[in-house]
Amino acid sequence: MEEVRTQSKKRKRNKPRKSQNNNNPSHQKNKVTHEPNQSSSALAHPTKSSTFLDKMRARLSGGHFRMINEKLYTCSGKEALDYFKDDPALFDMYHTGYQEQMSHWPEQPVNIIMKWLKNHNPSLVVADFGCGDGRLAKNVKNKVFSFDLVSNDPSVIACDMSKTPLDSSVIDVAVFCLSLMGTNYQNYLKEAHRVLKPCGWLLIAEVKSRFDPNTGGADPKKFSKAVCDLGFSSVLQDYSNKMFVLLYFKKKDKQKSLMQEIEWPELKPCLYKRR
Ligand code: SAH
Repeated sequence: MEEVRTQSKKRKRNKPRKSQNNNNPSHQKNKVTHEPNQSSSALAHPTKSSTFLDKMRARLSGGHFRMINEKLYTCSGKEALDYFKDDPALFDMYHTGYQEQMSHWPEQPVNIIMKWLKNHNPSLVVADFGCGDGRLAKNVKNKVFSFDLVSNDPSVIACDMSKTPLDSSVIDVAVFCLSLMGTNYQNYLKEAHRVLKPCGWLLIAEVKSRFDPNTGGADPKKFSKAVCDLGFSSVLQDYSNKMFVLLYFKKKDKQKSLMQEIEWPELKPCLYKRR
C-alpha cells in the first residue's frame, strides 16, 4: 500500500502521458499497448529487448491503473466524471489494468450476477451502475441500462451514476458490481432507490476487504443498516467467496418517511498491490 501511495503522489504531479508510444497512429494515441515495440534496438535483440520492453510497459501500465484506481476511490462521482472528461484515454488505461487484476480472481462477481439474472425472469429490467465494458448487458437476455463515466460502446450511457437519466420506479434490478467507488457512494444507492420499482432488487458485489472491520473495512452490519434505512430489506448476504461479498436487498413496498439522518459507514478504497 505504501508503494501505491508513493507512486500516486508522483503521478499526481505528472499525469500519465497521453501517448505511450510515439509510433502510434493518432487514433491509437491514448491507448496503452502491449504489442512489442518495433524500435531498432528491439529488432537487434528481439527476444531479450522485447521481453524487457514488455515488462517495462506492463509496469508502467500497472502504475497508471493503480493511480487511476486510487483517484476513483478517493473523489466524488462528479470529480471522477470531470477527470475522465478531461482525458478519456485514462478510462481505457483503467480498464486494461482492471481486467488484468480480474484475470487473477478465481471467479468474477459479474458472472455470478449474470447467473442470478439467468435464474430469474428475463423480463426483469436491469440498471447496471458502473458497468465498465458493459459485459453484463451483452450476456443476458434482459433489457439492461448500462451506466459508466465513459462510454466506448453505444449501449453504455455516460454519466455520473448519482444522476442517471432514468425515470423513477422503472427498474426491477439495480446492480453495483465492484462499482461503489466514490466518496459519495451513498448518492449512487439513493439513485438506485429512486429508479427501482417497489420490491425491486438491489444487488451489490464488493471487494471483501472493504467490509472486513479487522483490516480497517466497514462494519457490514452498519452498511446493511444504512441501506435498509434508505428503504430496502436485506434478503441475503453471501460471504462465501474469498475475494468479494454479494449483498442482496429488495426495495420496500412502502417507504416510511425518514426521521433521522442515515449513518453511512465510510468504505475504504480498494488499492491493488503491484504484482
Ligand atoms: N461492473 C463492471 C466494472 C467494475 S469497475 C464489472 O464488474 O466488470 C467499476 C466501474 O465503476 C468503473 O468502470 C468506473 O468507471 C465505474 N464508476 C465509478 N464511479 C462511477 C460513477 N460515479 N458513475 C458511473 N460509473 C462509475
